[in-house]
Amino acid sequence: MTTLDERVDAARFTTDEPLIRVRNLVKHFPITRGIIFQRKIGAVQAVDGISFDVKRGETLGLVGETGCGKSTTARLLVRLLDPTGGEILFEGEDIAKRKGDGLRALHREAQMIFQDPYSSLNPRKTVGSIIAEPFAIHGMLKEKGARKQRVQELMDRVGLNPEHYNRYPHEFSGGQRQRIGVARAIALEPKLLVADEPVSALDVSIQAQVLNLLRGLQRELNLTLIFIAHDLSVVRHMCDRVAVMYLGKIVEISPADSLYGFPRHPYTGALLSAVPVPNPTASHRRSRQLLSGDVPSPANPPSACRFHTRCPKAQEVCSVEEPTLEEKGGGSIAACHFPLSRDEVRREVEVTAGE
Ligand code: SF4
Repeated sequence: MTTLDERVDAARFTTDEPLIRVRNLVKHFPITRGIIFQRKIGAVQAVDGISFDVKRGETLGLVGETGCGKSTTARLLVRLLDPTGGEILFEGEDIAKRKGDGLRALHREAQMIFQDPYSSLNPRKTVGSIIAEPFAIHGMLKEKGARKQRVQELMDRVGLNPEHYNRYPHEFSGGQRQRIGVARAIALEPKLLVADEPVSALDVSIQAQVLNLLRGLQRELNLTLIFIAHDLSVVRHMCDRVAVMYLGKIVEISPADSLYGFPRHPYTGALLSAVPVPNPTASHRRSRQLLSGDVPSPANPPSACRFHTRCPKAQEVCSVEEPTLEEKGGGSIAACHFPLSRDEVRREVEVTAGE
């Protein structure tokens, strides 16, 4: 549950005006055969027609199992990947097809923090030059002294010792390396920060520190944050709204409290029932919905509702008619012909309230 202070903060900084509007965004990766004449024989449908808005100052969580398309979505939003189709409106302008200078200008406004702090930093560069990279790329702070001073301010802001300016990444711990990545990402004071599983490679004891750093920076810089994670308990404490993805589609998008209290989509219900409960007296009362089978291949996804091969509520219509995202009450939007009822999630809600 969010605290009152956190709600006040959110109300202060979040506006209804969307910073980003995504419409029918598609990313298919071609599958080819042959070494010389590469023939296209199919496509991995990593992201397949997703639409959502992100308000200014909001934190939107993106969750789902490995391979659901959340990391591809992250890379599309900051245009590290070219979309196959659809629109990404950033402050009203479509950035989906931007190239050259237009793309460089976008990268001043939209930055990304990567999952693996070990591989996302160049081991041959000092921390000072890694954090200064955005200034070099955008031709800013050309005077050496001014650039160094700004980099050291950034190091201090993310909790690194500015005197370690000339050290190399291998001289830092995992948490400190992720702080280096954060400093680099906020160097140009972007409006949008996309964090792709920013703490999943870190020890649990370090995760909370990095999450607190991100929350603090978001308030201070009025950042809009897209937070990607497979750990639903982390997302709950970070996000205003959460979008759940399955096989390249968004299946539910809801305010965080609604999603955790009353999930509407059976897939969301199953993901939540797999989250460990810290209270042992509650855990035995928790109904677990174990998903059967593996996630199908995104190169050959099931017809209509892509979840029908694993859904405990599936009926014939589910494999014939694709459900569309519709309002299900309480601000929740879900794509399901037979959404969960209160009775079906009642025991889960009791447990959640008791935690
Ligand atoms: Fe399950 Fe049918 Fe809903 Fe898909 S549409 S999630 S198969 S009940």
